Amino acid sequence: MPLPRVLCLGEVLFDCLADQLGRSLDQVDSWTPYPGGAPANVACALVKLGTPAGFIGRVGEDQPGNDLVQLLQDVGVEVSGVQRHPTAPTRQVYVLRSETGDREFAGFGDRDTTEFADAYLQAAQISEKLFESAEFLVLGTLEMAYPETKGAIAKALQLAEQYDVKILLDVNWRPMFWSDPEAAMPIIQDLLKRVDFVKFSEEEAQWLFDTTDAGAITYRLGSVEGVLVTGGEKGCSYCLSENEGHVPAFNVHATDTTGAGDAFLAGFLHQLCQQGIKSLSEPQTAQEIVTYASAVGALTTMKPGAIASQPTAAEVEAFLQQQPKAE
Ligand code: ADP
Repeated sequence: MPLPRVLCLGEVLFDCLADQLGRSLDQVDSWTPYPGGAPANVACALVKLGTPAGFIGRVGEDQPGNDLVQLLQDVGVEVSGVQRHPTAPTRQVYVLRSETGDREFAGFGDRDTTEFADAYLQAAQISEKLFESAEFLVLGTLEMAYPETKGAIAKALQLAEQYDVKILLDVNWRPMFWSDPEAAMPIIQDLLKRVDFVKFSEEEAQWLFDTTDAGAITYRLGSVEGVLVTGGEKGCSYCLSENEGHVPAFNVHATDTTGAGDAFLAGFLHQLCQQGIKSLSEPQTAQEIVTYASAVGALTTMKPGAIASQPTAAEVEAFLQQQPKAE
């Protein structure tokens, strides 16, 4: 297996989706587990596009943990960074669905958010070797809620800085994962000072910066190389190497938007690995890279599941070729 060019650190878990739509938690009769977790989704999407990626995280010594590691391996993700916890279980999240397909997180069943294996990632077991060959480290923020995993993330950040690995943060604000959501804001703001690229949803940008303007956020952060603000079917605004722009979303028949943002990010990183970061200083290339990422995001919404629906590079190329040319 080629050495990973991108390392994705954080959660891999099962999203248990309510089979019955429009019901409250106690009225749901059955659930179907779907593999997910944003960093794991990004790693899988990258490999499908052809960029070698590795996953770093912790699962339990249980059947769900075995199944998730197997899935990552089957896709071709490098899993030597996966740690196992002897007693804590692999995380499962319950998700309600409205009649219109909107999702609502409904907690962790009868367990507290701090009880799961991913809350206990060990800094001492983070492999320095992985960072020697990597070009990017992808992080979310929800694992910062757990002191032990936060320590492991600090180690990963330090290794990334030591080996000149660019850090990309997808804010992915999920208050449910925090025992004290009020504590999150300063922790996330500290983390933002260390990163090279950031992806926000419009809501996250508004919450943290009072604006969705990618250029204004770049200016406020001072040291970042790129900011992406995605708005689902409204598309994406960006500021990359001082080039600002907006790419509208592709007009597709979306059936499940789970993981669109993760696939979008993978499309963005795949292009950076192909073309190099310096290519972002060319305005047209920056726009093309975000267009490619948007195509990967759009294609992922057309089939159910976050991972199963991710396209190959050939599918993305074919989709882009079919699009009417702008005059
Ligand atoms: P997140 O899942 O992180 O909130 P978004 O939903 O904003 O991310 O999706 C990221 C990108 O994926 C969007 O900017 C857009 O390019 C594409 N995308 C998402 N939803 C749709 C959709 N319904 N139709 C077409 N493209 C979409």
